[in-house]
Amino acid sequence: VLTAAGLGLVTLDKPVDPARRSRATLEALAAEGAAQLADAPAEEIARWAASTFGDRFCVTSSMADAVVAHLFSRAAPGVDVVFLDTGLHFPETLKVRDTVARTMNVNVRSIRPRMTVGQQDGELGPRLFARNPDECCYLRKVEPLERALADYDAWATGLRRDESPTRANTPVVTFDARKGKVKVNPIAAWTQAEVDRYIARWNVPVNELFKKGYGSIGCWPCTRRTTAGEDPRAGRWAMFDKTECGLHQ
Ligand code: SF4
Repeated sequence: VLTAAGLGLVTLDKPVDPARRSRATLEALAAEGAAQLADAPAEEIARWAASTFGDRFCVTSSMADAVVAHLFSRAAPGVDVVFLDTGLHFPETLKVRDTVARTMNVNVRSIRPRMTVGQQDGELGPRLFARNPDECCYLRKVEPLERALADYDAWATGLRRDESPTRANTPVVTFDARKGKVKVNPIAAWTQAEVDRYIARWNVPVNELFKKGYGSIGCWPCTRRTTAGEDPRAGRWAMFDKTECGLHQ
């Protein structure tokens, strides 16, 4: 009996979505969006993403604040908001996620790593974050994001150019060649003051840790408070030569 494996065929977990666009089409849409929207207001960028990608679009949020989730709750009510639940978040972060799910017209999807923290400790030893944070971030963030994005052609982030020198060239729309998907950064050009104005105007949930001296918020083992004048992301992986988790590379 010939099996799919015997024929060298790959069996898919689920049928390919017929609405999925080709890589070339997505690349062309990204180029078009980048040209048209380079200086557009965030609301217009959000409307373009929602109308161009429909159900094959999601927002990702770290739940440091919920500005981009809120922006898309207005432009694309019911939109999926993907949250990477590493199992190592501060309770304050989970509180923002739960508030977003309760109060906004969005569908929050908490995506978990393949291994619980306990399973990872058993498999690779305890405190992987202190020994090999790149591997820990891959297992608990990068792989889960790639798994989640399999359902979409495009996704939005809250990346901003003024967050850190590593993000200074963030485009508004781009094609992520490695993921084969369109990445939309509607508030790339916003300053912190513009973020604060949006939060105040719409009463958007914000992580309470900002008031406690944290400039940027990730998993609790890899995040410390920052001091006045410090790069807000200086408190992330402070013991290592590492400033990004790998989600945006
Ligand atoms: Fe692991 Fe730290 Fe990365 Fe979270 S931020 S996934 S704890 S290395």
